[in-house]
Amino acid sequence: MTTMPNWLKQRAFLTPERIAVSDGRRTKTFAELYEAAAAWARRLAQAGVKEGDIVALLMKNRIEMIEIIHALFFLGARVLLQNVRLTSYELGWQLDDSGASLVVADEELAGRLGGDGRVLTVGAVAALPKADVSLKETCDLEEVATIMYTSGTTGTPKGVLQTYGNHWWSAVGSALNLGLHERDCWLAAVPLFHISGLSIAMRSVIYGMPMRLQTSFDPKEANEWIMRGEVTIMSVVAAMLQRMVAELGEARYPDTFRCMLLGGGPAPRPLLEACKEKGIPVYQTYGMTETASQIATLAPEYSLTKLGSAGKPLFPAELCILKDGQPARPHEAGEIVVKGPNVTKGYLHRPEATAQAIRGGWFYTGDMGYVDEDGFLYVLDRRSDLIISGGENVYPAEVEAVLLSHPDVEEAGVTGVEDETWGQVPYAFVRLKRGASPDEAALRAFCRERLAKYKVPARIYFVNELPRNAAQKLLRRELKRLIPKTEQTF
Ligand code: ATP
Ligand code: MG
Repeated sequence: MTTMPNWLKQRAFLTPERIAVSDGRRTKTFAELYEAAAAWARRLAQAGVKEGDIVALLMKNRIEMIEIIHALFFLGARVLLQNVRLTSYELGWQLDDSGASLVVADEELAGRLGGDGRVLTVGAVAALPKADVSLKETCDLEEVATIMYTSGTTGTPKGVLQTYGNHWWSAVGSALNLGLHERDCWLAAVPLFHISGLSIAMRSVIYGMPMRLQTSFDPKEANEWIMRGEVTIMSVVAAMLQRMVAELGEARYPDTFRCMLLGGGPAPRPLLEACKEKGIPVYQTYGMTETASQIATLAPEYSLTKLGSAGKPLFPAELCILKDGQPARPHEAGEIVVKGPNVTKGYLHRPEATAQAIRGGWFYTGDMGYVDEDGFLYVLDRRSDLIISGGENVYPAEVEAVLLSHPDVEEAGVTGVEDETWGQVPYAFVRLKRGASPDEAALRAFCRERLAKYKVPARIYFVNELPRNAAQKLLRRELKRLIPKTEQTF
C-alpha cells in the first residue's frame, strides 16, 4: 500500500495563494478550493455519504463540480462521472449497474432521473448542515478514485475503475513529456465527466497549475483566451479544433500558447496540415478512459516530422503491437497493447471483461495500429470495425479520411457489408455540406484516385445524419441501418 497526502489538502498547504481554477468570471485559489471542498464534504456526509460508497455526479463543467469531486475524495467515496448527454434510461442503467448510493445533479439535469430517490440537486446539498466528520488526509494509490463508463462505441458500456495511482501517474507522465512552465494554464473545454477533462483537474491540483473551465465549448471565447495569453495548453478533439481554426481566420496564436493536445479519435490529415500552416502546436495523443487519458503523445520536437503519428508511450508506460499473439515488425499492423501505472485495473463488476482485456499484465486496447522503425505509433482503427475484403484489411478511418478531404463532404462513416465475392466490402455514408449536390459516381471516382481498389466504397449513400453516441463518436455498427430497406440484402 502506498499512501500520499490528500492532493488538494497538500496543494492548499504548499501553494495556497496560487490560482486553482477560473471560468473567466469567477476565480478560486487552492486555499479557497480546499475550504469549499471541505465544506461540501461535510454536507455530503450529512447526506449519508460514507467511505467506499459510489456517488454519481451528473454535472456540467463548473467550479462546483471540481469542489464536489474533491469533497468526495475527502470522504473516501468513489466518484462515478456521468455523461450529461445520456438519456434517462442510460443514466439509470449506469446507476443500477454500479450500485451508486447517491446522485448529485445540476438543477437542470436532475429531472432526467425522474423520481429516483437517490438524487440530490447541487442546491439541495448546499442547503444541508455540515456534519462534524473527519476528512481523509491521505489517499491510497491502489484505491479507486473515480469510475467512468466507456462511451459504448463498440458495445455495452463498462465502468472503468480509475485509481488514485492511475491519475497520479497520468499527470506525472504528461508533465514528463510536455514539461511544466511557470505560466501554464490548461483550458478544459472538454467535459470533466470524460477522462480528457477530469485529467486536467487532476493535473491542476498535482502540479499547482491553474485551469480554465468552459461550461460548454465556445471556439470564439477559447480563441480569445489563447490570444490574450491566458491559456497555454488546451485539450481538444478534432471537431473542436476544426471550429477553432475556422474561427481564427487569418490570425495566429501568440507564442504563449504552447500545446494543443489533440486526441479522442482519428486526426484528419487536412486538419493537421492546416494547423501546421498556421503554426498551431498540435500534439497528437492516443489514450482512452482505461488509461486515465494519454498513453502515447507526440513529443514537441517530432510534431512536424511525424505528422499523423500519436507519438511514443509516455515515460512510465509501455506499448507493443501484437499480430497473431506475437510482437509485430515495424509497419506491420496489429492490436495495440499497453502497460503502465496509469492503466486501469479493470471494469466494475465485470471479472470476465477484465480478464479478457488484461492478460499477462498487458491491457488489450481493441485498437489496431503500427509503429514505424523509430517506434512512433500510428493508430489505424478499432479492431471490431476492421473490414476484411478479399483477404485485404480495410480500415474505415482511412476511407473516411479520404471522403472528408473532398470539399463537398461534411461527415463520413464507413462500414463493412457482407458480399458474396469478397466476404465484405466497404460501404460509405456521407453527409454533404449545405448546397452540395449528391453525385455518387463522382465521389467514388475521387476515392479511386486516392485509394487502392479494394478500399473504394462499393456504395456511397447520402444521408442527413450519422449515428453518434453521447460522446459524439461515430457508431459504425449502426450505419448499415441507413441503407434503404429496398436495397438491404442482409
Ligand atoms: P467504448 O470502449 O465503450 O467502445 P470508447 O472507446 O469510444 O468507448 P473512450 O475511452 O472515450 O471510449 O475512447 C478511447 C478510444 O478513442 C480509443 O480506444 C481509440 O479507439 C480512440 N482514439 C483515441 N485517441 C485516438 C487517436 N489518436 N487516433 C485514433 N483513435 C483514437
Ligand atoms: Mg474503448
